[in-house]
Amino acid sequence: MKTKFRYKDIHLCEAVVFACIDFRFWRETLEFVENGLGIKHFDFPSLPGGAKAILDCDLANDAATQCISVPCELHQAGKIVIINHEDCGAYGGSKEFQSREVEQKFHEEELRRAKEKLSAKYPDKEYILIYAKLDDEKENIEFVRI
Ligand SMILES: [Zn+2]
Repeated sequence: MKTKFRYKDIHLCEAVVFACIDFRFWRETLEFVENGLGIKHFDFPSLPGGAKAILDCDLANDAATQCISVPCELHQAGKIVIINHEDCGAYGGSKEFQSREVEQKFHEEELRRAKEKLSAKYPDKEYILIYAKLDDEKENIEFVRI
């Protein structure tokens, strides 16, 4: 198979979008970033738990760190988008929380802490924190900006 390479001679991108690997969310996450946030060119690394992977990494030279440092330093991404989602297996799923509200508050805090951690290394980036929430009896995904 051969397909058009849209980025011939282009080496810089707008943003890095860091999300969970979960197959149930990533396609819709791509759509949201392009259409909801209006970001067209971005690196899209994913590791289990999203913010959790950032919080667990040592900011030295592990895989999660490189997922942020390559976009930020090599591709000069100006925006860092971190996305967590409801019922994330890396956190034990929704069953670990008393209610959906408690679960959302927990993820909001995780996202804020991940931002704080990265801000130490990348203070000049624009941070966008998103919680992907299951709505309408889990029929739809709502992307909530934190
Ligand atoms: Zn997940």
